[in-house]
Amino acid sequence: MHELHSLGFGPYFQQQLLGEEAIPARIAGEHKQGHIVWHSAGESFARLAGRLSRGLEGETYPGVGDWVTLKAIPEPGHIAVVDRVLTRRTVFTRGAAGAQGRQQVIAANVDIVFIVTGLDANYNVRRIQRYLARVGASGARPVVILNKADACDDVAGRIAEVELAAPGAMVIATSAKLERGLEGIVDQLRPGVTAAFVGSSGAGKSTLINALLGEERLRTGEVRADDSRGRHTTTRREMLVFPSGGLLIDTPGMRELALPDEEGIDSVFPRIEELSLRCRFGDCTHQSEPGCAVRQAVESGELPADWVEHYLQLRAEARTNELRLDERARRKSERTIGRQRAKDMHIIRRVKDW
Ligand code: GDP
Ligand code: ZN
Repeated sequence: MHELHSLGFGPYFQQQLLGEEAIPARIAGEHKQGHIVWHSAGESFARLAGRLSRGLEGETYPGVGDWVTLKAIPEPGHIAVVDRVLTRRTVFTRGAAGAQGRQQVIAANVDIVFIVTGLDANYNVRRIQRYLARVGASGARPVVILNKADACDDVAGRIAEVELAAPGAMVIATSAKLERGLEGIVDQLRPGVTAAFVGSSGAGKSTLINALLGEERLRTGEVRADDSRGRHTTTRREMLVFPSGGLLIDTPGMRELALPDEEGIDSVFPRIEELSLRCRFGDCTHQSEPGCAVRQAVESGELPADWVEHYLQLRAEARTNELRLDERARRKSERTIGRQRAKDMHIIRRVKDW
């Protein structure tokens, strides 16, 4: 049994149900054949209603953390049908490599995204800023975790450096290995709060999550759900409950985080955005134009040159990805139109024959 509120349900989703006899449920796991959903009566295996699965792709396709409605709570061993996907409050996405659509949903309706970095060779301010841009685009609150504090002899210096480079983000130092500093995370994992942990592999995410789960860690194993034929299918459970009542969306390992668009970059570099309003040219690229307020701030020592360099790099990369993805979407829609046209021609020909 799940209390809907403890699953993160609230007025934002409630008001989308008005006047409907809908059963709200949250996607807790993904599977080739369907989804695992949690609802007031427990857990079910679910599939999207046929008309829903057509036309949904990339970021519009429901992912872990999404709130949906079910037609009914199925009998044990039966499959639930997802009727509707409710509008998201937040969504953390990344550029989808090779997949259909522009972006891939990593975690939907997430309140806090913890960006985990190791204070060892893993430490990289630019990577933190890249993740921060995606969190900025998601609508969730960013918290930077500097893990492996036991392996660093200037933790305070690192915290200060990251606080400067990550405006608006809370910065916490932890040692997952020694289970130190975890209370700063636990305090935020209150009942009904949904969190995701992102960061490159090796940062210590699994160690940290296991330490936070404590006795619950057994639940990170595999769960079994029934499919329509009464067969057991095994799936990895992707949503977990912390002992403090918070929810964890376990994110897939990410080797790199591509920026699918420019959204969120401004939240990482608010000062550069602010200064660029004072550049002489509206479309200033902050490279060699006269009257560039950004370059002036670099020359006066107000802005570190490598921040501006990184900012321009991220923008250029995001723009390139955006164009590439748009181009792919355009080609795809042309193919669809082409197919439709061929069908129409066929009908016209048949009508003529007749
Ligand atoms: P993940 O890839 O982000 O999930 O990272 P893991 O949790 O698998 O950790 C990667 C390595 O870092 C493992 O060898 C861990 O034992 C080690 N590690 C994790 N947290 C800490 C820590 O706080 N201090 C130290 N010294 N090592 C850690
Ligand atoms: Zn400029």
